[in-house]
Amino acid sequence: MSYRTIEIHWMPRTASEWRTFGAACKEAARLWGDLVERHRRVRRRRLQWPSKGRWQQWAKGRYAGLSAQSTQQIIGEFCEAVHSTRQLRTKGHAEARYPWQKPRYRDVVYTNQDARLRAGRLTLPHGTSGRLCLPIPVPLPGRLMEVRLSLAAVRLVCEIPEVPTPQQCVIGVDLGGNTLLAATDGAKVLLVSGRAAKATIQYRNKRLASCSHAQSTKTKGARQWQRLQRRKARMLAKTHRRLRDLTHKATRKVAEAFPGATCYVGKPFNDAARHLRRRQAQQVSSACNARLIAQLDYKTCGAIAVDEHYTSQTCPVCGERNKGRRLYRCRTCGQTAPRDVIGSVNILHVGRHHVLVPGRSVPNAVQWVHPLKYPGPKPGSS
Ligand SMILES: [Zn+2]
Repeated sequence: MSYRTIEIHWMPRTASEWRTFGAACKEAARLWGDLVERHRRVRRRRLQWPSKGRWQQWAKGRYAGLSAQSTQQIIGEFCEAVHSTRQLRTKGHAEARYPWQKPRYRDVVYTNQDARLRAGRLTLPHGTSGRLCLPIPVPLPGRLMEVRLSLAAVRLVCEIPEVPTPQQCVIGVDLGGNTLLAATDGAKVLLVSGRAAKATIQYRNKRLASCSHAQSTKTKGARQWQRLQRRKARMLAKTHRRLRDLTHKATRKVAEAFPGATCYVGKPFNDAARHLRRRQAQQVSSACNARLIAQLDYKTCGAIAVDEHYTSQTCPVCGERNKGRRLYRCRTCGQTAPRDVIGSVNILHVGRHHVLVPGRSVPNAVQWVHPLKYPGPKPGSS
């Protein structure tokens, strides 16, 4: 079974909707804050953190402004956060911090037992805070499992049955900056441009820096500070949407060019990013690699991460290592090809045989595509 999240824009309209929504979010934040406080006390006294079931017993009847299911879900999330922080700390990540913030508002979570979807309307109960009834304009792709309500967005998690797709070919995919995706099946290469994604990330970082700088000259919480905070949130939401759109379109191009393909994806190297200079490190780390791999995984027959060490430096023909810039040129045999082509050819080979051996050919058919451009008239322009 796999899960897919559908995000729907929603804002409270009437005064009573605002009241219910605000009360529920405040109650959820109160529950979270209480748990944070209790966790702090338990840790200070070096006691054992009680189990999730004990906390659910404890919360019974204390949070009347939330439904019982939502209370249990939030307790579950808190216990999970505590557990994962403990795991990280035992692995030596001392900087991992237990939940410590006490928010004023928090997202409310519902299970499919109390969130009811009937005739395109979703009903969400909140105990004494009242109920919310919101329209869901799109049909869901599967069974509703969980609902998450935050300001301006409702997220519906649906369970999707696994449909087996037969594998037709195997491709190697190299993730990069200027070329977002380079995919090859050994006969042809598809290069998807990453210039738009890179520009979006650079724009975001630049705007974020200027907003934060302007905020540093104001008093925290003042009206001008709040205005800047809103501007920052709007800009971040916009660039997030743009990047999501770009990655979806880029992975769709790969899935359409190689139907029924199993992808070997070069595992993005995190160690290498540390050794790079600051400007390059920003490009590597923010190239949304995890999202690309996840999207490739469900759009194709599955994505498998492989080690990509030296894959963009080794010549596939003679096996020599050369460092190149955008264009790869082998000093031994004279093989010339775009660097991302070399990388994807090598990743395909590493995925199939687990080693890099010389004596392979580099495909000549290279196709460049842009994620946002369609071949033919734009959709809806007819
Ligand atoms: Zn060579």
